Amino acid sequence: MQTKYISIVLDDGPLPFMCEIVDLFNQYNFKAGFAVMGERVTDDTQYMLKYAVDNGFQLVGHSHTHRKLETLSDEEIKKEMTEPVADIKNRIGYDMKNIARLPGHCPDERVLKICKDLNLVLIGYDMDCGADWLPDATPQNIINQTLKTAHDGAFACMHVREHTYEALKTILPELKNRGFQLVTPEQLFKIKGKTNLIYGTHIHNVNNI
Ligand SMILES: [Zn+2]
Repeated sequence: MQTKYISIVLDDGPLPFMCEIVDLFNQYNFKAGFAVMGERVTDDTQYMLKYAVDNGFQLVGHSHTHRKLETLSDEEIKKEMTEPVADIKNRIGYDMKNIARLPGHCPDERVLKICKDLNLVLIGYDMDCGADWLPDATPQNIINQTLKTAHDGAFACMHVREHTYEALKTILPELKNRGFQLVTPEQLFKIKGKTNLIYGTHIHNVNNI
């Protein structure tokens, strides 16, 4: 069976269950990305980022405050996207470089142009993971939708939540059985031979670029 590759990026951390999610992925020799919200990174939470990085997981930007970028000025958008990068480098010596997932996923042309000027690679998603950001999402729905829509080359969007962690306990072994390998965004680009980075456009599936 030919190996199929997916990169799940879990948004909005650092939050509780982040370290447990890292441990769970490690059980299957899988890796993932975490899209980090700058304002949630504090002296009390930065250990979670360090734990993820030390275990070979990738951190990417997800703005500082998660506000709707299209409602902000150009300067505010730039600050939202660049300040967390500097802060995390300062705190744990990790460089998120120029990879990010935008909050809300559907910015307008002005936001995309600013991201292009900032040389940001934007990670989208090409799988339905059962709306796991909703407070009333159920592990069973997350499991069903994720397994139904899993396919090679895709980015997936999940969130650092307890119900997502519960769902991953079923999703990860099943994906392993089906011949999937879960990797970080950088690994997915590399494995698929995509070395020319594209800025300011959402990348949902690396097979399509
Ligand atoms: Zn988010």
